[in-house]
Amino acid sequence: MNKVAIYPGSFDPFTNGHINIIERGVKVFNTVIVAVAHHVSKKTTFTLQERVEIIREIFPNSSEVKVDYFEGLLVDYARKIGTNIVLRGMRTVSDFEYEFQMALANKTLYSELETVFMVTESAYSHISSSLIKEIITLGGSAKEMIPEIVEQKLREKLLKKQEA
Ligand code: ADP
Repeated sequence: MNKVAIYPGSFDPFTNGHINIIERGVKVFNTVIVAVAHHVSKKTTFTLQERVEIIREIFPNSSEVKVDYFEGLLVDYARKIGTNIVLRGMRTVSDFEYEFQMALANKTLYSELETVFMVTESAYSHISSSLIKEIITLGGSAKEMIPEIVEQKLREKLLKKQEA
């Protein structure tokens, strides 16, 4: 059976932790669709288009990994794509509370939807998008935690803002 999983997220920015989930995800599912969320009310560092472009540079289109975006409810996007599998990563107990609530809410909205959690590998457990932004803003290097292109673009974005 062709199993397609949606891996939704803000990816602001995309990190090695996200990459690890995708690389492990394609070993379980035939296709992982990385779905970048467009948040109308949440201010992001990178625009939707920038986030999609960065991920597409790292994962050029293939039958295993596709990069897309969505606006509105995840369940509506899942129905549109024609799959009922959502892949999410889990790092900490605090992730669990939020993820649990989201999974139950999505299940209420779309009873066929199954959220599958992949536990982080310990090498990535401390990596979060907000921590990375803080490191770069304070002049540090996050090169062990993010792809080079992300570090470069983040530096341009965050340090230019500081100078302005
Ligand atoms: P969102 O705003 O939807 O939480 P994120 O971009 O922060 O989006 O994360 C997308 C998914 O990736 C979430 O399920 C999150 O728990 C998971 N994730 C983020 N960082 C890591 C990591 N270092 N290891 C494993 N999973 C992670």
